[in-house]
Amino acid sequence: MKHPSALTRRELVALVGVAGTALILGEGVIGTEALNHSALLSRTGDTAQPDPNPNPSSEGPAASASDEVPHLATTKTGEPEETLEESAAPSEPSLDDLPWNLRLVNKEHPLAKDFPTPELKDVADGYAVDERIHDDLVALLKAGEEAGRRPVVCSAYRSHKRQRELYRARVRQSKEEGKSGQEAKDDAAFWVAPPYASEHETGLAVDLVDASYQELDEKQETTATQRWLMKHCAKYGFILRYPTDKSDITGIGYEPWHYRYVGKEAASDIAESGLCFEEWLDQHLAS
Ligand SMILES: [Zn+2]
Repeated sequence: MKHPSALTRRELVALVGVAGTALILGEGVIGTEALNHSALLSRTGDTAQPDPNPNPSSEGPAASASDEVPHLATTKTGEPEETLEESAAPSEPSLDDLPWNLRLVNKEHPLAKDFPTPELKDVADGYAVDERIHDDLVALLKAGEEAGRRPVVCSAYRSHKRQRELYRARVRQSKEEGKSGQEAKDDAAFWVAPPYASEHETGLAVDLVDASYQELDEKQETTATQRWLMKHCAKYGFILRYPTDKSDITGIGYEPWHYRYVGKEAASDIAESGLCFEEWLDQHLAS
């Protein structure tokens, strides 16, 4: 086999299909462990392999604590000193008071350990979402198809166990790329949220790609399908969750495929504001 760096992207895609051992980019599943030295696979993305096991029927054993982000209990008992000044958090109505569709999930606001499996409804090819967003998602996909686009679901609800597997695989990739310890975890977490910190675990997020270009990389944004989705998703209650210029706030790299349901009113408001979800929630809670 040629050295990975000598392979074209198309060859990589083919190899990925053959090798089948999934690696992770962004929040999706990419690449193969055999190809992990390729810079192509580390940051610029690769094939949007569907989650091979999006809805495992049972949860695994409890995760080791080291995998997981600290829960908010720590901040409720006192903010870490370094964040006191910069956060200047509004003495807001709590994030916990928000309705289900506005639930914030990120590394700083992970789900509770007892967060239940949502009521799920299949949306496509074995992929399921929270049943409350099902109809709007189906309507979005249908409208896209009627407009001549070809949106495809490549990830939807993930169990905590599945999210843990994806995160651990991405940490392994970072280690194989020469990073160690916390550095590897931080690098991985920029692309794959640790368990309990991914919106996919709520059933409120989907990864959508163009049927003719199913790679999770920045080129995804140039596809006709993705351009259509970005323009019209708010009408159906979705936002592009990790915009290109907001990574320092969201903590997640640009993902021109990850859509989060927030409801039609909030989605339109967020789209008009140009804010990312974290910024918009700050304003929303302060107002
Ligand atoms: Zn995603």
